[in-house]
Amino acid sequence: MRTALAAAISWVVQLFTRDRKKGRKRLLVHEILSIQVLSAGLIGALAIASLYWGGQWVLQDNYGRWALQWTDELNELGSPLYLASSGEDLFQLESFVSRYPEIDRVAYFDSTGVAMFSVGTEDGIESVANLSKSALQDAIAVVGSDQPYLMSTGILDPQRFKILAPVWKESIPEEALFDFDPTAVEQNTKTKLLGFVSINLDFVLFHDRLLANIKGAIFVLLALLIAFAFYGRRALRNALSSISNLQKPIEELAKGNLSVKFEPAEHHEIAEIVKALETTASALSDRDAELLKLANHDSLTGLFNRRRFLEELRHEIKSVKQTRHESALFFIDLDQFKYINDACGHPAGDRLIRKVADELLRSVGPEDTVARFGGDEFIILVRRTDLAGAQAVAETILTNMRQMAHIEDERVFHVHCSIGMTMLSGDDLHHDDLINQADIACREAKSGGRNRLHVFKQSADAEQQASADLGWMNRLRKAVDNDGFELRFQPINCINTGKTMHHEVLIRLRNDDGKIVLPDAFLPSAVRFGLMSEIDFWVIRNVARAWARESTSDNHLRLAINLSANAFENDNLATYIEETFKTYDVPPSSIIIELTESLAIRRPLHVDQQITALRALGCQFALDDFGTGYSSFSYLQKLHFDFIKIDGAFVRDLPDNPVDQKMIKLIAEIGREAGMKTVAEYVRNAETIELLAELGVDLAQGFYVGRPAKRPKDTPTPISLTARRKKLTRRELSPIR
Ligand code: GH3
Ligand code: MG
Repeated sequence: MRTALAAAISWVVQLFTRDRKKGRKRLLVHEILSIQVLSAGLIGALAIASLYWGGQWVLQDNYGRWALQWTDELNELGSPLYLASSGEDLFQLESFVSRYPEIDRVAYFDSTGVAMFSVGTEDGIESVANLSKSALQDAIAVVGSDQPYLMSTGILDPQRFKILAPVWKESIPEEALFDFDPTAVEQNTKTKLLGFVSINLDFVLFHDRLLANIKGAIFVLLALLIAFAFYGRRALRNALSSISNLQKPIEELAKGNLSVKFEPAEHHEIAEIVKALETTASALSDRDAELLKLANHDSLTGLFNRRRFLEELRHEIKSVKQTRHESALFFIDLDQFKYINDACGHPAGDRLIRKVADELLRSVGPEDTVARFGGDEFIILVRRTDLAGAQAVAETILTNMRQMAHIEDERVFHVHCSIGMTMLSGDDLHHDDLINQADIACREAKSGGRNRLHVFKQSADAEQQASADLGWMNRLRKAVDNDGFELRFQPINCINTGKTMHHEVLIRLRNDDGKIVLPDAFLPSAVRFGLMSEIDFWVIRNVARAWARESTSDNHLRLAINLSANAFENDNLATYIEETFKTYDVPPSSIIIELTESLAIRRPLHVDQQITALRALGCQFALDDFGTGYSSFSYLQKLHFDFIKIDGAFVRDLPDNPVDQKMIKLIAEIGREAGMKTVAEYVRNAETIELLAELGVDLAQGFYVGRPAKRPKDTPTPISLTARRKKLTRRELSPIR
């Protein structure tokens, strides 16, 4: 029985401590259960202790009552023995003692405390010691009191009592007997102390019974506690199951599985937690989706971004290799996109980019992928198509873009694009190579005149472009360092007088073999490799030298130079020009600086400051290629140029194109109103110059006027009929000095 109990207790203890031993975290069930079991145990222990002490108290109270009763009886039984010891009385006394197992021993003493005889439960009559003096005094003192006995308990043995009580005899005197008054018995009764009786009581039996009961109660309590632990564990597990059910889903959630499902909880508190967790999971899932979108999409257009496109392309390369089909890659760059930014601001440019993105999406199939590569560049993967199919898609894009009109500030913008295309045909190519090929092809399309498609050809384009790029960089670097450029001077003549007014200085690159390379071939590379600014500074130096060399008191040499946007990014430009001109004694008024329309309109603050400084120096300014961009006539007034150079595109076919004629007439009129002289480029014949005179243009430049030459030469042109006719009526243009 005891072993079973010990085993059960050790099992319960293990139950609560094994998690700690194994180094695991405590279980909630065990913790709650242990608190409950401990509390129940404590309450049980308290109850048992109170039971014990209560039992003890009740027993002792009873002992007192019994002791009183027995003392009276023994008093009665003992008193005859004082007078005449008869065997009958002794026998009665012995039978009385044997009747009560709690009476251990009864001893009688005479009135002086001398022991007379004693009766014990076990060994009958035996001798006992006389009463001590103090015991005798105490015993005498209680005679006639309310509690006519003394009771003492052993400290170590509380179940054993000793009672000492006086034995007395009561009698009524003879005289009182004659006149007996039953109501005054007490007054008439005489008491005589005979001696003392001591009674040893032993209640161990009762105590042992009480202890046995308490043990039984402890056993029942322990059994109940163990049963409670078992049942409680199960009940708590059940009650906490909704918390335990959360454990797995929360682990999943922590691992990042946001689609995790939570069991519906029965308890209100847990249901609230589940609700909060579900809300958290859904918020995280939304944020994930948002982040994924940001990571994969371009924020302006919503198209895939470069990173995501590269993933698509990598998959497609694999798929092309596996299934041996063909796909096409387009690299698209918008033509002259900067103009809309310049003319209407960046937000307008953004709106146009979004519109282009929509247009591109509309132009391709649902299987194809359109992405924004950056800036005004887009990239498209046209899946499962052959060369002809891809070319047809590219043509659709070109046509749609040509037809697309974008309105900003009540102005209509048309944006075209240049497309470079390459095929994915199972060759072992890296995605970077393919994008490179499409990019090279796009640049070819740009240099071929823009607004067109160029299909990449491995041998022709790639090697040529790659080696050309590398070659150009080295050659341009060398040319900048070793004066490898040459200048050419093309005259610009007054249409009415035929006289050369100034020369535009043009740059040429001299090859190692002595051949001359035109700027169209090397300037794009110079821009790409960041050499443009250095070339501009080379031009400034050499133009100053040329002026110093070629200028005479007769020729009033005036030179127009082209400066790129990169030159203006250098804050020292104006200072450099001033110092260089000083070095070569060049009057700044002999120099006209030509700016492109895009730079002139944009004119960021630093450019503006440079222009103001150069103007203060005395330089004049010409607006180059006017009409090709988006600058409106209203800009002309604000810009304060000395010359407007009408783009060659309007002049080239002037005699056959009435629209161009109208346009030039308008530009000339506005120029005149704004106090600017107009220059027509690309003048290739007398008929054109004749027309230009009629339209009111002031100056002409082109092969008809004079080809670029190594030295500035005045090459007068025949005065046109119109000019001659007007000569008398119109003010002749005086040479600009
Ligand atoms: P080209 O025909 O040679 O391509 O000339 P372009 O004017 O289109 O010039 P380019 O392609 O070299 O430069 C693209 C310009 O697009 C440069 C920048 O000013 C502008 N750009 C780039 N990103 C953004 C953008 O997010 N929003 C706007 N509005 N403009 C941008
Ligand atoms: Mg562009």
